[in-house]
Amino acid sequence: MANPKAKMSKSRRDKRRAQFNARTKPATTVLCANCGEPTLPHRACRHCGHYRGRCVVNKLAKS
Ligand SMILES: [Zn+2]
Repeated sequence: MANPKAKMSKSRRDKRRAQFNARTKPATTVLCANCGEPTLPHRACRHCGHYRGRCVVNKLAKS
């Protein structure tokens, strides 16, 4: 009978299944405490560059 040659590890199995969530579910967002825009959690705000109440990316210097 046809059988898998080697066991697929939990890591490989879960990495395959994670692709489904990444493609179908929208990314989790939180509202920026500084500007109120939706941003990714645990990352500096894309709009104003603030994270945890202080400016970590100087948006004014670039523009
Ligand atoms: Zn912001």
